[in-house]
Amino acid sequence: ERRNPAQPEFHQAVREVLESLAPVFAARPDYADPAVALVERLTEPERQILFRVPWTDDRGRVQVNRGYRVEFNSALGPYKGGLRFHPSVDIGVVKFLGFEQVFKNALTGLGIGGGKGGSDFDPHGKSDAEVMRFCQSFMTELYRHIGEHTDVPAGDIGVGGREIGFLFGQYRRVTNRWEAGVLTGKGQGWGGSAIRPEATGYGSVLFAAEMLKVGGRSLDGLSAVVSGSGNVALYTIEKLQQLGANPLTCSDSQGYVVDEKGIDLALLRQIKEVERGRVSEYAQRRGPSARYVPGGRVWDVPADAAFPSATQNELEERDARTLIANGVKAVSEGANMPTTPEAVHLFQSAGVAFGPGKAANAGGVAVSALEMSQNAARATWSAERVEDELAGIMRSIHAVAYETAERYGAPGDYVTGANIAGFERVADAMLAQGVI
Ligand code: NDP
Repeated sequence: ERRNPAQPEFHQAVREVLESLAPVFAARPDYADPAVALVERLTEPERQILFRVPWTDDRGRVQVNRGYRVEFNSALGPYKGGLRFHPSVDIGVVKFLGFEQVFKNALTGLGIGGGKGGSDFDPHGKSDAEVMRFCQSFMTELYRHIGEHTDVPAGDIGVGGREIGFLFGQYRRVTNRWEAGVLTGKGQGWGGSAIRPEATGYGSVLFAAEMLKVGGRSLDGLSAVVSGSGNVALYTIEKLQQLGANPLTCSDSQGYVVDEKGIDLALLRQIKEVERGRVSEYAQRRGPSARYVPGGRVWDVPADAAFPSATQNELEERDARTLIANGVKAVSEGANMPTTPEAVHLFQSAGVAFGPGKAANAGGVAVSALEMSQNAARATWSAERVEDELAGIMRSIHAVAYETAERYGAPGDYVTGANIAGFERVADAMLAQGVI
């Protein structure tokens, strides 16, 4: 903490991973040998890039934001991870996300390293032209650090298809290269993959289904609470409905909606994706089955399964107590680190199946890697093919996390299983590649 002051999210992420690695260090002393400093190397990013992003708003005033790209670890492949545009972004947030990404990407079994980036720019309330000028300025610096064999950014909070389009356009312009593999989450007409927008939400639901299957249950007929109303939340809701579950809620940073009839996804998508509106408008337009609760906690709504899909530390100890008291059976993290360590502990002690983001939300980055494969081969796969691959990858992530937890004496503990399995793969590659 002395080396990285004022980075609480980064400390939280590192502490959580290192605590669960104790059994692996006991079994494999070569990993813990101070002479090779593996942990010190793993917790220090390979490269951190900070830059000024000046842009002109619609009133002709110059605004200045800060841009970040943390290239954390490339032992397994080019750095891979999203860009986040949100006022809360600082170096500690980007480092926490990049650190998590290293293990998540390893867990997919694919050839991708870990990185993350973004800016404290807030896209809310900005015109399309302002977002475009910001993205162009951001890429005017970032382009020199990325490339299909070096570092491949994607979307995250505040960065969706629109922003990836503006970023890709500027990359192409300043490099004079059609290099599709430099960014993922592109539009399907120009190098994007089918199912990429859906992948994180779909994957999180498939992971929950796998966890429930271990206990002889399925999602069919279960009720669910979902937080957020962005990319991950929308497709979590869609896949839940496809599998016969009933998602009752969605939220944004101002409040949540509970809909007794289940969320009307077409209406929610119209408001969020087309009009870029708020969830309060959903309640106004849906009719009497829906209620808007300003400033409330979505976790107060009783349900069989919970899908935190908004942001970090959004599900706290008291929320976990409420969910457990209401009989929740499974929690699957669509967002990154949405559940506080105290809340994770409560779920695990109560026997609730808990899927950590590193495993449960890895579907997004996995399909991003499939997008890179398609770009490298100049091929376009069908939606059916990509969805089959995604389902296979989620099953395999579940199996690896489950089996690793058993092997290290922590059956059913997917946190331990995912952390150890991801760590082993990265650690072995780093040891084999020497002191770098
Ligand atoms: P979006 O920007 O599409 O949506 C984010 C949603 O979360 C919005 O509803 C937003 O509400 C809400 N939200 C954001 N910040 C806060 C906050 N501080 N408090 C309350 N609500 C908040 O992002 P994504 O859906 O892409 O990402 C959601 C989560 O999933 C993040 O943790 C991200 O890291 C993770 N993730 C995303 C992946 C992807 O493929 N996109 C892959 C893996 C993980 P509002 O509009 O009011 O801000």
